[in-house]
Amino acid sequence: MQAELPDKNTAFIVYRRESISSWKSGKYDACIGALYSLMGLLPADYRPSISTEEFELLTNQNLMAVCSECSAENNFAAVKTFDVTLPFLLDILSGQKTEKVWVCSQCDKMNRLTTTKLIQKVLKEPYFLKVIPSPPGRNEGMMGRTQFKIKFSTWFWLALSSIEAQMGRYREEYQPKDTEMFDMESSIQEGGEIQ
Ligand SMILES: [Zn+2]
Repeated sequence: MQAELPDKNTAFIVYRRESISSWKSGKYDACIGALYSLMGLLPADYRPSISTEEFELLTNQNLMAVCSECSAENNFAAVKTFDVTLPFLLDILSGQKTEKVWVCSQCDKMNRLTTTKLIQKVLKEPYFLKVIPSPPGRNEGMMGRTQFKIKFSTWFWLALSSIEAQMGRYREEYQPKDTEMFDMESSIQEGGEIQ
């Protein structure tokens, strides 16, 4: 694995540069191609996936219900509540015949809604998630040229920074002892003629 890194690192620098210059000159297909090539260089464990749905699910503000048994955080919007009949004694004490409960998706334990701890999750930017939304399509509605450019740029930098974050993780875990790869990177960047 370590021997592979310097080669991958060279390819990574090339595709990164290609993606940025394609973005600058408005060659959006080439830009997406270069970004996908960058992703392809990463081992599966580090590779971000492309899913608008999953990205939105992760970045939307979510109210989470905490399980009293295993402390798992359940998305409250996805939690189903139902009524259970209280045992006779509790019925008398509380003055109610039923109580609202929900079931933890992790441990299947039944939680009482009235005593459930709820927390508001807000993800901070930058996200550096392992999931990237799909690139904007050019035929989305009646989007004008400028509008598309802005939308694409936002997506591009989000995608590149997410890939860089994973590349950083990969490097940290497989950094060769002699740090040869880092010397090589600096010499390539100075020379700048590797295309
Ligand atoms: Zn649980």
